[in-house]
Amino acid sequence: MLNKADLVRFSKIVGEDNLKTDEPMSKHSSFRVGGPAELYLEVDSVEKLKAILDVNKELKLPITVIGNGTNILVKDNGIKGIVIKYVAKGIAKATLDNDTFAITADAGLPNAALANELLKDSLTGFEFAASIPGTIGGAIYMNAGAFGGEMENIVSEVTFLDLDDLAIYKSDGDDCDFGYRHSKFENMNTVILSATMVFNKGNKEEIKRTMDAYLQKRLETQPYDKPNAGSTFKRGDGFITAMLIDEAGLKGYTIGGAQVSEKHAGFIVNTGNATAKDILDLIKYVQKTIMEKYGKAIEPEVRILG
Ligand SMILES: Cc1cc2nc3c(=O)[nH]c(=O)nc-3n(C[C@H](O)[C@H](O)[C@H](O)COP(=O)(O)OP(=O)(O)OC[C@H]3O[C@@H](n4cnc5c(N)ncnc54)[C@H](O)[C@@H]3O)c2cc1C
Repeated sequence: MLNKADLVRFSKIVGEDNLKTDEPMSKHSSFRVGGPAELYLEVDSVEKLKAILDVNKELKLPITVIGNGTNILVKDNGIKGIVIKYVAKGIAKATLDNDTFAITADAGLPNAALANELLKDSLTGFEFAASIPGTIGGAIYMNAGAFGGEMENIVSEVTFLDLDDLAIYKSDGDDCDFGYRHSKFENMNTVILSATMVFNKGNKEEIKRTMDAYLQKRLETQPYDKPNAGSTFKRGDGFITAMLIDEAGLKGYTIGGAQVSEKHAGFIVNTGNATAKDILDLIKYVQKTIMEKYGKAIEPEVRILG
């Protein structure tokens, strides 16, 4: 249990405004559901992060790390211990040769912000991620991808803090065990701090056109008007999950405030008053229906926390 003195210690590190107790996680999840975090901290530097973890050495509270909360489903009972949102947003640029640059971005930087910086310098290779609404940390963790691009194709190095020994490590992109919506960080207890990515010079107008076209495609096909967390399920092995859900007649199927989107069967949306339980029950119902109708097991892409 947290006492006043512990809270003061944390508050001195992150500042009063960046510490919240019993913070509703619905405020930090794009699904807009989720119970309270016992202690919620926004941390904007490695030094502050280390200081927090030093204090926590005695308290031994469990730690959950989030980015923009665009791929998480927090249960209604909330999250015990400390939720850390790592919000460092720095960008550094190094020249590899005339046309090739290594860009190191802090994990808290939103993908869209990085995409805009790269556009200013006419650097190509990140267009696919510009409209994925998460952070660099979340994109590394998930090996986020769209429109034929994936983080694993551009990442040369990831720096992370290991929450078990509190040491900082670097991993080459090749050593991150990237796979479809998977990285080694899923099986580790870490805070991803930053990633170095390699980009080439391109044509500014073309980069902008591509980014705009991808965004337009999303607006046309995805339910932007209702809270969601992107594709609820992973792609199947040899089948497109959203197509099966559509074929099974599940578009519009509703449990409480959770609904299989009428616009895109791969998305579950919050129609306004969903609980996390509604969404979890709907996930289970869709899984059961697809198994019964097609004999296929489908797996959630969203990370269930709490
Ligand atoms: C409308 C919409 C469209 C989307 N489209 C796509 C798409 O096209 N392609 C795609 O791949 N995804 C898509 N997503 C899902 C989501 O945006 C991505 O998975 C994104 O990479 C998640 O980043 P985040 O910062 O929001 O991470 P969060 O959702 O906050 O976290 C996701 C996971 O990463 C971990 N994590 C986050 N940051 C760190 C860190 N610094 N250190 C350690 N662990 C961390 C969390 O613990 C959690 O397990 C979409 C989501 C929405 C809402």
